[in-house]
Amino acid sequence: MFDRLFSSSMKEADWDVIIVGAGPTGGRTATHLSSLGHRVLLLEEHSEIGRPFQCAGLVTPKALDEVGIYDSVLEEVDGARIHGPNGTLVPVGTDGKLRTYVVCRKKFDQGIVQQAMESGASLWLNSQPLSANISQDIVSLKVDTDGKEVDLTCKLLIGCDGAHSWTRRYFKMGRPKEMMIGFQVEVLGYKGVERWLDMYSGLEIAPGFFAWVIPSGFGSHRIGIWSTPDRLQGRSVEQCYEGLIQHPLWRERFAGIKEIARFCGPIPSGMVKKSVGNRVMLLGDAAGMAKPTTGGGISPGFKQIKGILQPLSKAITEDNLSEKNLKKITSKHFNSMKKDQDKARALRNLLVSDVSDKELDGHFENFARPDVLELINKIGDIEKPVPLGMALVKKVPAFRMLALKAGTRLIFR
Ligand SMILES: Cc1cc2nc3c(=O)[nH]c(=O)nc-3n(C[C@H](O)[C@H](O)[C@H](O)COP(=O)(O)OP(=O)(O)OC[C@H]3O[C@@H](n4cnc5c(N)ncnc54)[C@H](O)[C@@H]3O)c2cc1C
Repeated sequence: MFDRLFSSSMKEADWDVIIVGAGPTGGRTATHLSSLGHRVLLLEEHSEIGRPFQCAGLVTPKALDEVGIYDSVLEEVDGARIHGPNGTLVPVGTDGKLRTYVVCRKKFDQGIVQQAMESGASLWLNSQPLSANISQDIVSLKVDTDGKEVDLTCKLLIGCDGAHSWTRRYFKMGRPKEMMIGFQVEVLGYKGVERWLDMYSGLEIAPGFFAWVIPSGFGSHRIGIWSTPDRLQGRSVEQCYEGLIQHPLWRERFAGIKEIARFCGPIPSGMVKKSVGNRVMLLGDAAGMAKPTTGGGISPGFKQIKGILQPLSKAITEDNLSEKNLKKITSKHFNSMKKDQDKARALRNLLVSDVSDKELDGHFENFARPDVLELINKIGDIEKPVPLGMALVKKVPAFRMLALKAGTRLIFR
């Protein structure tokens, strides 16, 4: 009897870590953990990596330098021409000074997953979990792989399975605070400025947020829009897109565009309440990590795993993966990322999202002032929007008044 108990509880798991989802977060997590000697299996529901893609492809130089997949770069971007609802232009950036890359997501994701495999991780395509059971000692998974059911065990299950995460839903780990709708059309023939992207704002175009036009190589551009369902008030993102390309101020730039592709996808932003449980963890979009200011989710996913790597690796080696220990490992890093997200959202709401077009025009007039523009260009960083937002609120009297009137608990916390 004791022998049986002993042998079943000591049975070695098939894998140290099973990661659901081979997107950028899953691939990067697999590379880190397998480089540290852990046995890692990546499960990907699709038959190829990086498809279908739902992304504008903006990757910060820091994130690209981290993975070094430079052959995925389609364009380099030096700045953004940001347009207020009535046309006020705020150019942010400097010619010749790289601000961000535009990548081919298929090549980028494939490069990341290739690195994971070179580090020793295994990849199963056409594979997704059907059910899971977590006991004190082990995670047992039923997986559909190529139409066959397979039973697997692991010490730790990591959900990197994107905005609609199966892992998050299966283990009832909460919901991201905001789920934005993103819509994008790939076109030829847009009249933009080389190495600059355009951003357009206004209720008709992207209520509470902005539309983007990003050069994507070989003369093509990605035209996108994002907003939240409550702010859209019954309108569709496609209607907003029509509003943009027909807009009297901008239609000349869009005249003659030819559409190549279009798609729609969710952008989850606002870290879920419970990102760890016994032997389970969520990372990346699955955990609601996209930035509330830009919708970018690639670098937050990278940052999230990097910040917990060493203690997580130790916990896997020691098989000390209780909820309590995972919380101990993650809480400082995750809470600081959550705090940053909350602050960025509060500043975004104050300056852009919760204002009328008339107020936004007033803000753009302030943004366009030479002293404010200098500040934006000096401190502005897609990666870290909070310092800029704080500087604007502290140094520009009109924004300071606004912050004080709005109640500033979240912002100044
Ligand atoms: C229109 C739009 C534009 C965007 N533009 C940008 C941008 O310019 N820059 C940026 O940084 N971010 C952008 N984003 C956000 C970005 O796409 C995501 O934040 C990023 O892809 C998150 O990476 P991830 O690995 O966490 O999740 P994902 O990229 O969603 O990867 C999840 C993976 O898990 C797989 N999967 C899902 N469920 C299962 C399952 N049950 N079993 C097995 N596999 C599963 C999926 O097939 C996928 O491969 C944009 C999003 C949208 C919608």
